[in-house]
Amino acid sequence: MTRIEAIETDNRASAPRPVALTIAGLDPSGGAGVIADIRTFVALECFPTAAITSVTFQNTKGVFGAENLSAETVRAQVLPIVEQYQVACAKTGMLPTRKIVVEVARLFRETNLPAPVVDPVIRSTSGYQLVEEEALRALVEEMLPLARVVTPNIPEAERLTGLRITDEDGMRQAARAIREMGARAVLMKGGHLYGTASGSERLNREAIDILDDEGRLTIFRSEWIDAEMRGTGCILSAAIAAYLGEKMSLEESIGEAKRFTGEAIRKASKSNWAAKSYDV
Ligand code: PLP
Repeated sequence: MTRIEAIETDNRASAPRPVALTIAGLDPSGGAGVIADIRTFVALECFPTAAITSVTFQNTKGVFGAENLSAETVRAQVLPIVEQYQVACAKTGMLPTRKIVVEVARLFRETNLPAPVVDPVIRSTSGYQLVEEEALRALVEEMLPLARVVTPNIPEAERLTGLRITDEDGMRQAARAIREMGARAVLMKGGHLYGTASGSERLNREAIDILDDEGRLTIFRSEWIDAEMRGTGCILSAAIAAYLGEKMSLEESIGEAKRFTGEAIRKASKSNWAAKSYDV
């Protein structure tokens, strides 16, 4: 069977859509995980495909548990996808067990999947530990070297490096440390930097993210949008993957993905809807 780029074309463009793959957890309530990824892929005109690593139980109030799938089940979802499609871009999210991490790394090594955007998911905002300790160690050993870019937030970077990050300089050091652990590029997300800010400090906040791409630094500054919204890390990493699938450079992909995620957060902040999710 020959691989095809996508089975769908839309009405506006006759070119086939890039096929995008997410390997991540299912949040059945739709705020995070593969549902957020798929919405992002569709909004950015990719053809979405997904392999689920874990079925979580959650809503806006918290995460109440999860049932992790076996590594074999994850592999069995991905193989038919790569057999049929030429996947143009990929991301990984919640990889909850060591066995799943090892299997996912093997899939990226042994098939022609493109280098993924690796979102090193560890905990939910509500504090639930989504991945086992051993999975985190395996993520560093197995997935960092395969990633096009790794996208930690500050708590994740602190866990991965053991560093304490309190300012922009700390973000640069952490990005470099994660790169030295084996990643080609690191997008260090600063959204949690001023988590305790209040009053005028909070109003003047900027969202600062630092890209360290093989030692070349790019600093992204944008307006901070004060909104409670889940799944922003999922949306950002899926959007970076989608833009990479359109053959944009990493730097451009991140710039566009930040704009897209900012718009999603802005919409959610204006919405009275309890789920504080975004609609596409
Ligand atoms: N659930 C799943 C399946 C996720 O992948 C993630 C984050 O990536 C979360 C929950 C956590 O989302 P939040 O940080 O918005 O709580």
